Amino acid sequence: MSILVINAGSSSIKYSLYDAKTLNVIDHGLLEEIKNHDEGFERMRSQLRLHNIDIADINAIGHRVVHGGERFHAPALIDDALLDEITALIPLAPLHNPANISGINAARKIAPNVPNFAIFDTAFHQSIPDYAYRYPLPYDLYESYHVRRYGFHGTSHHYVSDKAADLLNKPLESLNLITFHIGNGVSACAIEKGKSIDTSMGMTPLEGLMMGTRCGSIDPSIIGYLIHEKKMTIEEVETLLNKKSGLLAIAGTNDLRTILSAKEKGDANATLAIEMFVYRLKKQLGAYMTTMRGVDAIVFTGGIGEHSATIREAVCSGLEHLGIHLDTDKNTTNRSRIENDHSSLALLVIPTDEERQIALYVQQLL
Ligand code: ADP
Repeated sequence: MSILVINAGSSSIKYSLYDAKTLNVIDHGLLEEIKNHDEGFERMRSQLRLHNIDIADINAIGHRVVHGGERFHAPALIDDALLDEITALIPLAPLHNPANISGINAARKIAPNVPNFAIFDTAFHQSIPDYAYRYPLPYDLYESYHVRRYGFHGTSHHYVSDKAADLLNKPLESLNLITFHIGNGVSACAIEKGKSIDTSMGMTPLEGLMMGTRCGSIDPSIIGYLIHEKKMTIEEVETLLNKKSGLLAIAGTNDLRTILSAKEKGDANATLAIEMFVYRLKKQLGAYMTTMRGVDAIVFTGGIGEHSATIREAVCSGLEHLGIHLDTDKNTTNRSRIENDHSSLALLVIPTDEERQIALYVQQLL
């Protein structure tokens, strides 16, 4: 009895195989430079055979799908009609949904009798109220063009919120949390009683916080300005904002470890990059502290949130007036609870595991 979790990218397939009962990992791997998803699945089939597992005997496959639009509030069993609906959402996620769909098609081809489920990055955020998800733009853009905020990293925010409840030994339904997923992609989520009520990413993963290579929120008029003054094409502007901005633009690299050590050596650009990065995280924290009805805990996750004591300390510093008191020793020794006795908010470090959360969803559906 096993559950296979698939994260299909345009040229790679990341997979994890779990025992369907215990959710222990049986095997996991990353297949890179695949010719296409059919070839990738063939390579994965060979890998799984080494564990005496035939892909046709797997109980279910859970696929990460980036964009579920407004249609998907929860994981869903994939059939032809559902696949058509995911296909219709491609304009909202042109960089991601096509690869996710191609992965689903390859899975259905190689193991036709195994049920497939779609797990959407956006689904967890479908509980966000309209006043938070609507943009102040004409109605028609929302009704005809689906222009609204959707939010991403939902699987991660959901996973760490459950783990936070375990750590605090309280039911999730009794807790208000602010979760920060800080990796190459960065997003924050305001979670009241287990439900996302706001998140920093928007219609696409470009909105919100400063990221590894994405700018996050900027004045939208900059786009028109660049097109008019610098004669850039819209594609060039999109590449600039998604791939050449963020930490990379300011520090010359998007690897936070490199930036931190450059800062130690007095590099001014690295120092500025970190100040900007932290300033925006702090502003986001402040925004949720005022829009939420009380906050019990702040959760740090993602490559940076889990591993960088420096960034966690910088985000929490000077916020004693908000009841946020970090314990420096606990923080630098990477403990899971890093607040001190004076803190009225719990401060938590929780490793995310999106694959496991997908396996959990599938297990519940089975
Ligand atoms: P992705 O969003 O692509 O999954 P990750 O969540 O793995 O990325 O986060 C990548 C970021 O985490 C990089 O900027 C990397 O430098 C940073 N990171 C990883 N380990 C550490 C560490 N020990 N200290 C500081 N930053 C770290």
